Amino acid sequence: MADPNGFLSQPRVDAAKRAVDERLGDWREVYRHLDPDDRDRQVRAQATRCMDCGIPFCHSGSAGCPLGNLIPEWNDLVRGGHWPMASERLHATNNFPEFTGRLCPAPCEAACVLAISPDSGGAVTIKRVENTIADVSWERGYVRPVTPAVSTGRTVAIVGSGPAGLAAAQQLTRAGHEVTVFERDDRLGGLLRYGIPEFKLEKKVLDRRLAQLRAEGTRFVTGCEVGGAGPGAMPVERLRAEFDAVVLAVGALRGRDAPNIPGRDLAGVHLAMDHLVPANRQCEGDGPTPVDAHGKHVIIIGGGDTGADCYGTAIRQGAASVVQLDQYPQPPNTRDDDRSPWPVWPWILRTYAAHEEGGERRFAVAVDRFVGDADGTLTAVQLREVRVHKNPTTGVREVVPLNDEVHVLPADLVLLAIGFEGVEHLPLLDALNLKLTPRGTLACGRDWQTTTPGTFVCGDAHRGASLVVWAIAEGRSTAHAVDAYLTGASDLPAPVHPNALPLAVR
Ligand SMILES: Cc1cc2nc3c(=O)[nH]c(=O)nc-3n(C[C@H](O)[C@H](O)[C@H](O)COP(=O)(O)OP(=O)(O)OC[C@H]3O[C@@H](n4cnc5c(N)ncnc54)[C@H](O)[C@@H]3O)c2cc1C
Ligand code: SF4
Repeated sequence: MADPNGFLSQPRVDAAKRAVDERLGDWREVYRHLDPDDRDRQVRAQATRCMDCGIPFCHSGSAGCPLGNLIPEWNDLVRGGHWPMASERLHATNNFPEFTGRLCPAPCEAACVLAISPDSGGAVTIKRVENTIADVSWERGYVRPVTPAVSTGRTVAIVGSGPAGLAAAQQLTRAGHEVTVFERDDRLGGLLRYGIPEFKLEKKVLDRRLAQLRAEGTRFVTGCEVGGAGPGAMPVERLRAEFDAVVLAVGALRGRDAPNIPGRDLAGVHLAMDHLVPANRQCEGDGPTPVDAHGKHVIIIGGGDTGADCYGTAIRQGAASVVQLDQYPQPPNTRDDDRSPWPVWPWILRTYAAHEEGGERRFAVAVDRFVGDADGTLTAVQLREVRVHKNPTTGVREVVPLNDEVHVLPADLVLLAIGFEGVEHLPLLDALNLKLTPRGTLACGRDWQTTTPGTFVCGDAHRGASLVVWAIAEGRSTAHAVDAYLTGASDLPAPVHPNALPLAVR
């Protein structure tokens, strides 16, 4: 039984970060590693704040954890120091809690009953408890390979090794199928590897989990584009002939560009991923990045997660200045109950660790021109103050200048972090005769099967650019559907959120 008064005696204490000077001297994770005894004591006190509220909005429903993590249950186990059982309950719903514990924006905390009133001292630090259970599980050897008890003799190909593909692979291997993951990159992990910077997720955390999957029997083939034409590629016909089912976890990596802004072709204007991928490769030891911010005036266009990752990366590379631009007005610091009432995800100012490290953010501004020199090299950006509104007649979002005033900022490097437009134009789409939704994602039915029988989809390829927690949740759900397709019924956990996205095709 949880302590109903715990939140009254224990204040919320977030995980401590390393000092800014220290973390800018390396690429390691920003959070401080505490002495294990201190950490366990602190986190047990934090778990005590979970009061057994009766209807835990945090762990289910449209506002809470997409994985259905059994939050009150493991909070109570941690409170009592029952770490092995907490680990078992956490892994029952989440294959990779060390990823979500580090990366998730924690919609569960926004939906915590303690978040209703500021007088409560704030939500339970659910993400911190989750991350600590995950770390303790690895340190104390609770995470071991779980090898299947039976072999079904059925084969499954998974295309893409991001969190969605990995979660599907682990579930299906454990169900006794022979699973092979095909990845076109030279290393595994998808955006966990080459999108998300080391200072948010050290790649050794990913590698130890991959070792577990290998030990359980999942096979991996890297440098292999399914449907591609290059060396090592896997033709779609062979894939269909050799495997009983195919899961497409190919992500939604088609970066949104800004072709209509004059000067887009100048040297020095890049998509965000042109910056983040080689920066991550450099951390892996692949040599210097060609898009280095060192000594440069950097402008990041786009106020979201990807922009914040460019921000922290540029600062670590030694940028002369970093300015992040957002066309929307600055959100409030606290929840606006009229606009986003509890328990929904609130519209508030999100300040990432990178924003504490220097640089500047500007809101309600948009670039209307990139300025260059005679050689075609970027030298500045021209900004206008703007308002974003929806055209009442067409319903289309419009960005309208507020006045004629123009601001000029020096710029040597511009990074476009303005989102993703769905699945890339991959050769395998035509080869498998797949249909796209109007959002550029792969259409599927409620059983996660695409318009091509025996071919399933999960993760960003299905949802559009989203979150690690959703990728894992969809990988697990799709595994259940594939297992049922192959064997007639499945003992794997059923989807927490049934696939409600329609089979809208064009
Ligand atoms: C810069 C950045 C930062 C982010 N930060 C966060 C964060 O902090 N927290 C969070 O929750 N989410 C974050 N996200 C979102 C999160 O990373 C994604 O939602 C998640 O990785 C999606 O997982 P996925 O498995 O669907 O796809 P991906 O991770 O995109 O993996 C898809 C994989 O498929 C491979 N592939 C594609 N086509 C083929 C083919 N034909 N053959 C073989 N392989 C193929 C690709 O190479 C890739 O490895 C971030 C995203 C970006 C871009
Ligand atoms: S995965 Fe995300 S939403 Fe779920 S419990 Fe962990 S932090 Fe909360």
